[in-house]
Amino acid sequence: MTAELIFVGTELLLGDILNTNAQYLSRRLSALGIPVLHQCVIGDNADRLAEALRLALTRSDLVLTTGGLGPTKDDLTKETAAAVCKKRLVRHKESLDAMRAYFSDKGAEMPKSNEKQADLPEGALVFPNSNGTAPGCAMETDGRFVLLLPGPPREMKAMFERSAVPFLRRFSEGVIVSHSVRTFGIGESAMAERVSELLDYKNPTVAPYAKNGEALLRITAKAETEKKAEALIAPVLQTVQDRLCDVIYGVDVSSLEEAVVALLKEKKLTVATAESATAGLIAKRLTDIPGASEVFHCGIVSYADKIKARLLGVERETLQKQTAVCADVAAQMAIGALRQSGAYIAVSVTGLAGPGKDEHGRDAGLAFLALTDGACVWKREVHTGHTEDDCRDYNRTVFASNALHMIYQYAAAFPNKPAGGKPLSV
Ligand code: AMP
Ligand code: MG
Repeated sequence: MTAELIFVGTELLLGDILNTNAQYLSRRLSALGIPVLHQCVIGDNADRLAEALRLALTRSDLVLTTGGLGPTKDDLTKETAAAVCKKRLVRHKESLDAMRAYFSDKGAEMPKSNEKQADLPEGALVFPNSNGTAPGCAMETDGRFVLLLPGPPREMKAMFERSAVPFLRRFSEGVIVSHSVRTFGIGESAMAERVSELLDYKNPTVAPYAKNGEALLRITAKAETEKKAEALIAPVLQTVQDRLCDVIYGVDVSSLEEAVVALLKEKKLTVATAESATAGLIAKRLTDIPGASEVFHCGIVSYADKIKARLLGVERETLQKQTAVCADVAAQMAIGALRQSGAYIAVSVTGLAGPGKDEHGRDAGLAFLALTDGACVWKREVHTGHTEDDCRDYNRTVFASNALHMIYQYAAAFPNKPAGGKPLSV
């Protein structure tokens, strides 16, 4: 059983909206054990849609479409799919009643043009729409199946889960389970080299990815049951963990900040931040995690030099002699934030978000970070290598990730100290 996805809408082709339905349906079908082998996007054009549907039906057992089920003239999916599958459209009374009820619940009268949404291919299994008006459906043609789903993601997801999933279960051949191993401080290719022979495995598969300056590995197995898939994954995951133990910060965690907040809670540690180049991004990312108030004390955005001096006690002489972007300023910022906040540790960032070079000829993407617990200070220098016009976002994300990673390393070693710290002078 193989599936193919067709996304209908000129707005997708123009790049006006992101095809989020593609990601959602691909993930869900994979999890159901139904491999998706082709995806295609078609504008609101009946001929090209018919061509895509015909081609899909020559090679795939299941064809799912989203979009084009609305009441307007450019919504052509149902008419076109019915024609390709040689079915008449017939009015479906229950859908019409449901649509009328949907409008009257809102205190509105249903426009006449909506009626056509209740016309469905003869013999189709109708999928009610709990979040909108257009029903979807599944129809059979020459032993293959075409499923029509609405375009708006909220409607599509609800319909897929409530109606399409029960329909599709009979086609699923086992389950697909995947785990994602997240690392920091190693490039994608260096990470891949350490596990190179695993990348040739067929079941489970092991695939490296790079994302926002981080490298991750996805291990995916297909089996009859979840338990069997987990059993296939376990030894491979163990090998990956053994080989990458120095750089892994989590398995199946959604972000570095999630791992950091969980670890700070576990170790009962609290943190404060002093941010220049990232201007609050570290604080934002930490507080994106529910329950961050247990571990996060405060964030100081000390963008201007005089604020670094006044609020954090950075020495004016250091700022003048070494500029605001240097390791000593980073260290003094962290010490100042620790003093101001009373947190257990403080982390700081000062750097060049870019684009281009600073007045001393240094490339954007350079940052100095520091972490202190009042007894020692750890420093880190980062070069992202990104200086182009749109580098600011990337650089700031990577600077913030490095700061989060320094917190992670400190907390992971606690109550011991991570290597490389310098005692503060007394
Ligand atoms: P339609 O059902 O074609 O009228 O689609 C209505 C709206 O749903 C579009 O204007 C988009 O905002 C949204 N939409 C349609 N297709 C997709 C898709 N593949 N991914 C995300 N949103 C979509
Ligand atoms: Mg449309």
